[in-house]
Amino acid sequence: MSLPQFKLLRPRTLDEALGFLTKHGSNLGILAGGTDLIPSMQQKLFEPECVLDIRRIAELKGIRERQGSGVEIGALTTLTTIEQSVLLRRRYPVLTEAAATVASPILRNMGTIGGNICLDTRCLWYNQSLTWRKACGFCIKKDGDLCHVAPGGTKCWAAFSGDTPPALLCLNAEVEIVGPSVVRRVRLREFYTGLGDAYRKLQPNELLTRVFLPEATADYRGVYRKLRIRGSIDYPLAGVAVALKRSNGHVTDARVALTAVNPAPTLVKGVTETLTGKVLNEELAEAVGNLAAKTAKPLTTSALTPEYRREMIRVFTKRALLAAASN
Ligand SMILES: Cc1cc2nc3c(=O)[nH]c(=O)nc-3n(C[C@H](O)[C@H](O)[C@H](O)COP(=O)(O)OP(=O)(O)OC[C@H]3O[C@@H](n4cnc5c(N)ncnc54)[C@H](O)[C@@H]3O)c2cc1C
Ligand code: SF4
Repeated sequence: MSLPQFKLLRPRTLDEALGFLTKHGSNLGILAGGTDLIPSMQQKLFEPECVLDIRRIAELKGIRERQGSGVEIGALTTLTTIEQSVLLRRRYPVLTEAAATVASPILRNMGTIGGNICLDTRCLWYNQSLTWRKACGFCIKKDGDLCHVAPGGTKCWAAFSGDTPPALLCLNAEVEIVGPSVVRRVRLREFYTGLGDAYRKLQPNELLTRVFLPEATADYRGVYRKLRIRGSIDYPLAGVAVALKRSNGHVTDARVALTAVNPAPTLVKGVTETLTGKVLNEELAEAVGNLAAKTAKPLTTSALTPEYRREMIRVFTKRALLAAASN
């Protein structure tokens, strides 16, 4: 599949990039690793006039420990760098586990944490060629006015399918967003809208520049479990991240977050209340598994059935919690 015509812009600094965003904002695609943007452009899901290649902006790369206040990760840091970081593996293991499951080694060498957070939502009816989508009469997410997944509705339910955001939600991470005149820092849980077709709160002239992992969630035990068809490469069809802190065998804090089963990565409510002060056992892990299964609202957006995906959320949550409590 060929790429549409576009003008390539290659800034070397953040200021230069913001200048391009201000000038071309609404009709521009941001290219980090390009592992999702380029296939989307080939499928004509996205046909921007300009592509802003931010890969040469050195200040957006790297992992930095901030004395006493957690860790900062540049948006252009690759998933391989995150997966192999000794610092992150020791202090924020749920993130390195999740990063290690994204796609394949080659795609992780290219793909960035910023791109993974900003990843477009996915749907069986949307991530297809132009010919395929045309034959189906298109859909609300692009060029059409009906939803094949929830006919009669007006909402798009495409599923958010990035692996690292649920891990970042468990860690209470924040992201820095930079625009021409404003720098904002938002909690990741406030970055997503819950709408499949307008899934993130990012203006056309803004860039995600950094991710902040707070000191408060450092050293939590962490586990990530993922359901996919081919273990070597595929996107998640259900994913569960767990972060857990214990003292003398008793849980003092716990979080569970899901991916690929809702239009946004989602924290499961009631986990801390259910587990705090208790010694984690099968029964409690199962109770949290039930909470997670209720939070998951999978629809027919992917190759596996919603029922199976919801059930696997229940099973993975239980297993991930027990694994986090045993390591
Ligand atoms: C075969 C295949 C399998 C895959 N499997 C997985 C998987 O298992 N799990 C998974 O999570 N992903 C998967 N992916 C998707 C992708 O490889 C990863 O999500 C990757 O992290 C995307 O990062 P990137 O830097 O390549 O993003 P890009 O493709 O460059 O960008 C992705 C989106 O984010 C925007 N963007 C990127 N950086 C910024 C920024 N700093 N500020 C604002 N917007 C930005 C882009 O404009 C675009 O909309 C897969 C892709 C392929 C092709
Ligand atoms: S959920 Fe509906 S509107 Fe959204 S991409 Fe799928 S078919 Fe299209």
